[in-house]
Amino acid sequence: MLNIGNKIEAYLPPELLTLVKVAGELAAAKGQRLYLVGGVVRDLFLGRPNLDLDLVVEGDAPALARALAKVRGGEVVAHPRFGTATFRQGELSLDIVTARSETYAEPGALPVVKPGTIKDDLLRRDFSINAMAVSLEPAKFGELVDPYGGKSDLDRHLVRVLHQRSFKDDPTRIWRAIRYEQRLGFRLEFDSEVLLRRDVAMMWRVSGDRLRHELERILGEKYPEKSLYRAERVGALQQLMLSLKADNWLLERFSQARLASGASKPASNLYLALLAWRLDGEELKMFVERLNFGGEAARVLRDIPGLKQALCDLAVRELKPSGIYHLLEHHRLQAIQAAALAVDSTLARQRLELYLSQLRFVAPSLTGDDLTKMGVPQGRKLGWMLRSLKDSRLDGTVKTRRRERELVRRWLAEGKRRG
Ligand code: ATP
Ligand code: MG
Repeated sequence: MLNIGNKIEAYLPPELLTLVKVAGELAAAKGQRLYLVGGVVRDLFLGRPNLDLDLVVEGDAPALARALAKVRGGEVVAHPRFGTATFRQGELSLDIVTARSETYAEPGALPVVKPGTIKDDLLRRDFSINAMAVSLEPAKFGELVDPYGGKSDLDRHLVRVLHQRSFKDDPTRIWRAIRYEQRLGFRLEFDSEVLLRRDVAMMWRVSGDRLRHELERILGEKYPEKSLYRAERVGALQQLMLSLKADNWLLERFSQARLASGASKPASNLYLALLAWRLDGEELKMFVERLNFGGEAARVLRDIPGLKQALCDLAVRELKPSGIYHLLEHHRLQAIQAAALAVDSTLARQRLELYLSQLRFVAPSLTGDDLTKMGVPQGRKLGWMLRSLKDSRLDGTVKTRRRERELVRRWLAEGKRRG
């Protein structure tokens, strides 16, 4: 049996290592076995950092988490009904679950859960590379539990499901398979790909929230377009919305988005807006509904048709900077960023870039308070003056606070003259 105790000791930061060792001892004292499972075991073999620790106990996870908090301090959030608990201490966090077996009544539904052994628990997992465990039991520390050939698939760079019904049971695994394949530079194992293509249409049964979550995880990857491209090839992207495309156009826009955002990662809503950019108004509505988008993501998506309209004016009209500003000011930032990458007209693109890099930050130096002190009455007039000052700044006709004051005094005098 392979023992990777040394590897774990070198891989985990010392505080985390101590924590899982203590947890293993506490479990053993109760006659229960504790294991490290899932992504961290995979990433440990691959030498990729991963501090998201998932533990499985053949016993009682909430009780173990509380016992750990008792001896080490820290907080526990437990869900006894699900047999899960999260232990937190400062930056450190452990997810502990009670080993379980799962059966699926119908595709896409939530599974029926029963307590089980570590082997049962590994069998409910998505892919062999995610279905390995390492013992944290003091007497067997570091022993690899690998009943489904995960290590050999890791070595051969394969993503393999554990059984024929896997994608039917949980079609979100289709997205997960693609995500791991593209992130790790692996391939779907031959039979798994046949099953995936066979079951891809099962995705219609998955709730919008779960699908959106998978898409968000894809968009959170370093190169999301790789997964989207692959998803289109196997027919998964079309399940989200028939006319979504991951073609060269999209690949180029995604990499430009990364260039434009420099050292930081592009916002996932920017990727989303680019992905949805070529949908028409009806399709966008359906897309928002199907994936149950809310918050800023929904606002960005709903903004696309109106913004496309504004782009027509942006591409042709004689416009002062203040005119550019007013065409764009009520649109969502990430939709505008997407437009700047998506639009064909050079003039429109330059204007979008001007807005993003400069115009949107322009503000007059005088505030509403300042104007009141100068004798401007509260109300519509004050609002008008603030907007006009901003326009003058945008167009460069006013460049200093002193000139702003002069302008306000002139407007006040003109107002008096007119009555
Ligand atoms: P990542 O690095 O993307 O977080 P991960 O392997 O940690 O990868 P999680 O989504 O955090 O993935 O899930 C943790 C573990 O739970 C996985 O390794 C896998 O064993 C299991 N798992 C997660 N989602 C599913 C699923 N839909 N079906 C079966 N097993 C799953
Ligand atoms: Mg994880």
